Amino acid sequence: KQSWMQRLKAGLSKTSTNLTTLFVGAKIDEDLYEELESALLVSDAGVEATQFILDALKKKVKSEKLTDAQQVKAALRTLLIDMLTPLQKPMVLGRHQPMVMMIAGVNGAGKTTTIGKLAKHLQAHHQSVLLAAGDTFRAAAREQLTIWGERNNVSVISQESGDPAAVAFDAVQSARARGTNVVMIDTAGRLPTQLHLMEELKKVRRVIAKGMASAPHEVLLIIDGNTGQNALAQVKAFDDALGLTGLVVTKLDGTAKGGVLAAIAKTRPVPVYFIGVGEKIEDLQPFNAEEFVDALLT
Ligand code: GDP
Repeated sequence: KQSWMQRLKAGLSKTSTNLTTLFVGAKIDEDLYEELESALLVSDAGVEATQFILDALKKKVKSEKLTDAQQVKAALRTLLIDMLTPLQKPMVLGRHQPMVMMIAGVNGAGKTTTIGKLAKHLQAHHQSVLLAAGDTFRAAAREQLTIWGERNNVSVISQESGDPAAVAFDAVQSARARGTNVVMIDTAGRLPTQLHLMEELKKVRRVIAKGMASAPHEVLLIIDGNTGQNALAQVKAFDDALGLTGLVVTKLDGTAKGGVLAAIAKTRPVPVYFIGVGEKIEDLQPFNAEEFVDALLT
C-alpha cells in the first residue's frame, strides 16, 4: 500500500517532472527561465505567482552568484518553501465550547468526504463532534453526510426539507445543550437557482452568530486541487462573501498540478489547514510547506 506521501508525489508527478527535468544539465540562461516560466504556468501557479517566483529566483541567482543548475533548483526549493510557509497554520482546537465550523465548497469539490475525514481527525484529538446537514437542497448530500456520521459514530442534525440556516441554528443549540466540542455545518454547494448561493451562505453565517455570538469560529472552504485557477477564483469569491479562516485542498493524489497553492499564497493567502490525498477516511493530512515542495521538486 502506498503511503500518503507517495500518493501525493504520484498526484503531482506531471508538475514535478516538468519542474525537475528542466534543470538537468541546464545552463543558467534565459532559456532556463523561460522553461521554468512555462512549467509554472502549466502547473496552475498563475501569472502573478509565476512572475514573482521568476523575479525572486533571478535575484537570488545574482546575489548568491549561483553557477550550477542544481544550485538554482535548490534556490527554487527554498523560495517555494518560503512562499508556501505562510499558508501552513494548524487548526487550533479547544478555544471555544462548542467550536462551530461552517464548511463551504462547490458541489464535487469533496466537501462531504472532507467533513467525514475531519470528524475522524477531530475524534482522534479527543473532540466530540456533531454534524449538521445544512445542504438542504440535495437529498443525496443529506444521506451521504448521514453515512459518514454513522461511520464515525457521530450524530447528524438533519431536516427533511428545511431552511439551511435553521438547521445550522439547531445544531449549535444542540451542541451547547449536549456539551459537544465541535459542530461542523455542511452547506449547499449550489442552489436550484445558482444565483443566490452567496446570499444564502451569508444568511447561514448570520444565523449561526445569533445562536452563539462568537461563532462561526472557522469558515472552511473545500477546493478541488485539480481545478487550478478556478479554485483560486472560488477562494476569492467565498472569502469576499464569508471571510474564510481556512482551506482544505482535496484530490492532490489525483492528477492535480499543485501550482494553485503558489497562486493562493500570492493572491489570497488563506491558511491551508489540510490536504486531501485519497478517498478514504484517513486520507487527510495537515498541510506542510516543506513536504509539499519536496513532492513537487523530487
Ligand atoms: P461534495 O459534492 O463536495 O460533497 O463532494 P464529495 O465529498 O461527494 O466528493 C466528490 C468525489 O471526490 C467523491 O467521489 C470523493 O470520493 C472524491 N474525493 C474527495 N476527496 C478526495 C481526495 O482527497 N482524493 C481523491 N482521490 N478523491 C477525493
